[in-house]
Amino acid sequence: MSLWAGLSRGHEAGVGARPALTYHARMSTPTHPEQHTHTHAHTHTHGHDHDHDHDHSHLGEMDVRVRALQTLLVQKGYIDPAALDRIIELYEKEVGPHNGARVVARAWDEPAYREWLLTDATAAIADMGYSGRQGEHMVVVPNTPDEHNLVVCTLCSCYPWPVLGLPPVWYKSAPYRSKAVIDPRGVLADFGVTLPASQHIRVWDSTAEVRYLVLPERPAGTEGWSREQLAELVTRDSMIGTGLALTPRQSADASRAAATAPAQTATPVRPAGGAA
Ligand code: FE
Repeated sequence: MSLWAGLSRGHEAGVGARPALTYHARMSTPTHPEQHTHTHAHTHTHGHDHDHDHDHSHLGEMDVRVRALQTLLVQKGYIDPAALDRIIELYEKEVGPHNGARVVARAWDEPAYREWLLTDATAAIADMGYSGRQGEHMVVVPNTPDEHNLVVCTLCSCYPWPVLGLPPVWYKSAPYRSKAVIDPRGVLADFGVTLPASQHIRVWDSTAEVRYLVLPERPAGTEGWSREQLAELVTRDSMIGTGLALTPRQSADASRAAATAPAQTATPVRPAGGAA
């Protein structure tokens, strides 16, 4: 697992209300993986002056190893905690599915842009100002009445950060990663999506080299809408393929619900028979 994967995992798993600060506070403490993978059931006093963060005991072996590595990188001056904070803040607040939604809305609105997007997605997306890490080699796959596209990273969590932000927790989960290729129609059912039996489902496996983005079908009844209006219909899940673009009515309902509830959340994938 890369350092980046560890960072995003810790952030998204809700390590703390202020993940970056919590994270660095712990990083400043020397970490001894072999001493912290068990639970301390007793109270004792150490004869030395460093703090022990005893809640390390719930961490998995890989998380402990990632923390140890990050601690060393900071101590040796190879990475700057302030820079890491800035990167995390960037992906929390500035980069997200709203970027991808603007790309999709433009493709719906401008046929020439759609063609460009489908032939050279990296350049077409960069034209909107979205490029950089985890988006160097983009491929956009269009949904049609005959074919629906679904994106997964079967190996880990590869995801097009510049247009979708950081991946949701379920995208990185073993159940989603395995079920997406074994039973994609079942995954869609988990997300409340039922497609016609005649509509073929094509699954794309994102990798470190290529990241896929689904171009959902434009909903009916949106003729003459502005790009800003169209973008409101484009959900994160519709660009992964676990959802569809909202209909005008769904969008109106969502706007009303937004007054009393947080943004749309997806149903975690729970295959029958337990975790894969
Ligand atoms: Fe991956």
